[in-house]
Amino acid sequence: MGTFKAIRIDKADKGTVASLTQFDESEWMEGDVVVAVEWSTLNYKDGLALTGKGPVVRRFPMIAGIDFAGAVISSEHPKWKAGDKVIGTGWGMGETHLGAYAEKTRVKGDWLVRLPEGLSAREAMAIGTAGFTAMLSVLALERHGITPADGPAVVTGAAGGVGSVAVSLLAKAGYHVIASTGRVSESAYLKDLGAAEIINREELSGAGRPLGKERWAAGVDSVGSTTLANVLSMTKAHGAIAACGLAGGMDLPATVAPFILRGVCLLGIDSVMCPLPLRDVAWARLATTLDKAKLAEMTREITLDEVIGAGSDILAGKIRGRVVVKIV
Ligand code: NDP
Repeated sequence: MGTFKAIRIDKADKGTVASLTQFDESEWMEGDVVVAVEWSTLNYKDGLALTGKGPVVRRFPMIAGIDFAGAVISSEHPKWKAGDKVIGTGWGMGETHLGAYAEKTRVKGDWLVRLPEGLSAREAMAIGTAGFTAMLSVLALERHGITPADGPAVVTGAAGGVGSVAVSLLAKAGYHVIASTGRVSESAYLKDLGAAEIINREELSGAGRPLGKERWAAGVDSVGSTTLANVLSMTKAHGAIAACGLAGGMDLPATVAPFILRGVCLLGIDSVMCPLPLRDVAWARLATTLDKAKLAEMTREITLDEVIGAGSDILAGKIRGRVVVKIV
């Protein structure tokens, strides 16, 4: 049994403390596949775990990090063998199971997705849980039967990770994308990703009316709270909104008016326990439809020793698009 470099979260007198340290393999949790982590990423939830500002970590010690891509070192799982390239996201990694900010991780083979053809491990992590969630949102809108012919699509938290990928995917699908952001200084960036219109998030953040002017047929909301309530109240009859985030708050001060008077649907998106068949569909779609140049444009690279600081930045809304973490 050896040791490996990892970001460890321990309980402290007040809250938790994160440190880059050596972790002992004897402390590994149950799992039948050991993966050499090549790339990880930074999501909003990672920021909550690293800073202790949200109750994400529910077991100590923990290795933070909810996403990784890498190569299998050893496997007792029938589906995987040494050398296989894999992606791991969610399933409680970095929350209840030792996570991804580590040179190696031991996880359950049932959690892993094969890295799709045409996608590098770095690109998979540039997508990460945030981009995967944006794809799940777009798939949910499709399953609901919404098409670009029904009207525009709104994306809230547009300059963030989920938002940036959602803008890019919806624009590629042919939608007139309305990007809502608090950073109008990022208008050029968002237009480059495919946004047709930029609106200031203040337009959606105040207390709204039960029903407003119908502005969009579809939406991906990563903000929650009054923003989601306003988005719903401005959704066209029989439109749908995929709710995937809470960057603005966990509450939903809405009325049922959009649902019962306009037949609007609210589609819940959960990436963590998303079943494997849907994961495979989403990753295959990401590999074939997400514009690689646009993905590169929204992605910045950091090293493992920069992760703890970046965790505070993402909660402060200072991170644009996506961040990949180079592990080796
Ligand atoms: P980011 O921090 O990258 O993006 C969030 C964006 O939300 C910010 O960039 C900002 O966009 C906007 N925002 C932040 N604070 C506020 C606020 N107070 N009011 C209004 N807008 C705000 O995070 P991610 O993209 O990684 O995650 C976004 C959300 O989605 C998080 O809540 C996360 O927990 C959730 N999530 C949920 C998943 C699921 O499975 N359901 C999976 C992945 C993420 P701008 O600057 O453009 O205004």
